[in-house]
Amino acid sequence: MTPNTVEKTPVTLLGLGAMGTALARAWLAAGHPLTVWNRTPARAAALAAEGATVADSAAAAVAANNLVVLCLLDDASVGEALAGTDLTGRDLVNLTTGTPAQARARAAWADERGARYLDGGIMAVPPMVGVPQAGGYVFYSGSRELFERHRQTLGVPVGTTYVGQDAGYAALHDVALLSAMYGMFAGAAHAFALIRKEDIDPTSLAQLLADWLVAMAPAVHRTAEQLRSGDYTEGVVSRLAMQVAGTPTFLSTAEQQGVSPELLSPYFALMRRRLAEGGGDEDLSGVVDLLVR
Ligand code: NDP
Repeated sequence: MTPNTVEKTPVTLLGLGAMGTALARAWLAAGHPLTVWNRTPARAAALAAEGATVADSAAAAVAANNLVVLCLLDDASVGEALAGTDLTGRDLVNLTTGTPAQARARAAWADERGARYLDGGIMAVPPMVGVPQAGGYVFYSGSRELFERHRQTLGVPVGTTYVGQDAGYAALHDVALLSAMYGMFAGAAHAFALIRKEDIDPTSLAQLLADWLVAMAPAVHRTAEQLRSGDYTEGVVSRLAMQVAGTPTFLSTAEQQGVSPELLSPYFALMRRRLAEGGGDEDLSGVVDLLVR
């Protein structure tokens, strides 16, 4: 062990899928002593050659270090991997994707077993791990004290963003951002479909789309301000009444291009409902309230 590694917090990592392996390599590269376990042992072989200690059971891996990071497929696999394992006094950091309710239940489950708990939602794909300039990070929620204690170690593979004591908030932020991402992908799919049969190079549209989406994205700040103040007519740039009047143009163009309106129609239906409720002088913030049951 070099003097450089002596001071680095030892980490136990359960789960060596695509993401777990990327995390493992980042900690090893930074000189953290690392103990790993994977249900299928063969996946640990390469990491052993790179300096990781391979435990032959999840229980042995958990026993090896105070800081135990989980990166498994789903919440059920966490329960299975840790069934019957002594978690007393352990600092559990669960980076496995799940729902807010699963995270809260896992926090209570850890507490009953004498462990501290931090939940994480990974906002990165494996190639972004260990590459600071790639901008990846993990949302953390749950014990703030635990987060502060391990902040530096957890920040080695990707950045860290703490979002609250409620263990469910990391998952909630994760799902909120990814849901918005799918909305964006849905819009882009419709845009590509519109030009699919035309003599337009999709790569030229892609550049225009990327620039346009970036230019439009800051509109979320206005939505947030309006939601916070409760005045949805504040700072309106494009009135809902005007936008609804424009929707037949979008639907007719889709029809003329032989494109199904199924991605656009549900959003337009919500815009029309808000207009019918008297929201013509607002922009699109009222749609948020129509979604909340
Ligand atoms: P993989 O499918 O590559 O790996 C899944 C891991 O979970 C493997 O280590 C697998 O073990 C293990 N596993 C599955 N079921 C069980 C079980 N019942 N008991 C014990 N271990 C089990 O997934 P990733 O590594 O890509 O993803 C891991 C987590 O990270 C997921 O929650 C995912 O949502 C999240 N994530 C992944 C991203 C990505 O782009 N890859 C991006 C952001 C988050 P085995 O090898 O034995 O099958």
